[in-house]
Amino acid sequence: MKDDGAIAIAAEGLRKRYGDRWALDGFGLTVPEGTVHGLLGPNGAGKTTAVRALSTLLRYDAGRAEICGFDVARQPAEVRARIGLTGQYAAVDEQLSGRQNLVMFGRLYRLAPRAARRRADELLDRFGLTEAAGRSAGQYSGGMRRRLDLAASMIVVPRVLFLDEPTTGLDPRSRNQVWDAVRSLVAEGTTVLLTTQYLQEADELADRIAVLDAGRVVAEGTADELKGRLGGDRVEVEVRHAAELPRVAALVTGLASRLGGAPGETETDPDTRRVSAPVADRVTALTELVRALDDAGISVADIGTRRPTLDEAFLHLTGHGADRNARGGTREGIPA
Ligand code: ATP
Repeated sequence: MKDDGAIAIAAEGLRKRYGDRWALDGFGLTVPEGTVHGLLGPNGAGKTTAVRALSTLLRYDAGRAEICGFDVARQPAEVRARIGLTGQYAAVDEQLSGRQNLVMFGRLYRLAPRAARRRADELLDRFGLTEAAGRSAGQYSGGMRRRLDLAASMIVVPRVLFLDEPTTGLDPRSRNQVWDAVRSLVAEGTTVLLTTQYLQEADELADRIAVLDAGRVVAEGTADELKGRLGGDRVEVEVRHAAELPRVAALVTGLASRLGGAPGETETDPDTRRVSAPVADRVTALTELVRALDDAGISVADIGTRRPTLDEAFLHLTGHGADRNARGGTREGIPA
């Protein structure tokens, strides 16, 4: 047995083939203990395959992976004893109540009946499900259901928890509830590998983010580092009259160069009558731009800043766009 040191998840050169398609094609990752690592990618990038391979559910064709120092292929029982998995594979029984589900999982983990009931109650309380504890899980909302899944994976606190797209398909309120639940288990020291299609989710929860494309990691860093590589926030102006586009583009470019943005990256789109450019400080940029437009007597239809969308992020990092369904960008108006 090897000293596990401070690395919870280590993978190198993982490959997995389905027919003539490589779902994993040289996947590698190092996750220090006690951190949250986001695995961000569009549909089909290989996120689920990576999680299944790392959690012993799927045999990989080549490469090496270790969880807490144990080899995933050769020591699967040791690995399984240290991990939890939740997300797309909800193991919850819809006929049973939330509480009955958690007691059942406790019994599966060989807790004595009383200990299983006590743990169930603790987790129901922790995940805000005490009131709904007696209702059958089939009647839970999407957010409650995901929180019950998370609670089930925390019966025995795992050293490493795999969360596979824990909020896909949830409304913003339910998404926030799941994020709070994830934060609360991270506070206990669990290492989390979180797969997601949402840039914002990775941003909210992850210490570091790996961007996955076609089965391999194409970029890795903190959210700030990645955003820096994506050009960060952009100011965007929509003019009323297309004839004003060149003047506005010149103003925006001048502003971007003065405020440390990337003036060469000003984009003008005559179809939408929009001009945009990356800026380092969006509040200052917006304030100055509003003033400059006003001084020049140019009236605009819309103005704001926005983060790069997931499409733009992928375009930038991979040279091609993300799946049409996988959008993570947000648009923000002028700050008050
Ligand atoms: P999603 O966000 O849609 O869950 P993902 O990033 O998790 O996508 P995977 O599910 O890992 O992607 O799939 C990676 C690639 O492998 C895809 O091209 C997928 O079609 C293929 N694939 C996955 N599982 C199988 C399987 N059991 N049989 C054949 N092909 C598969």
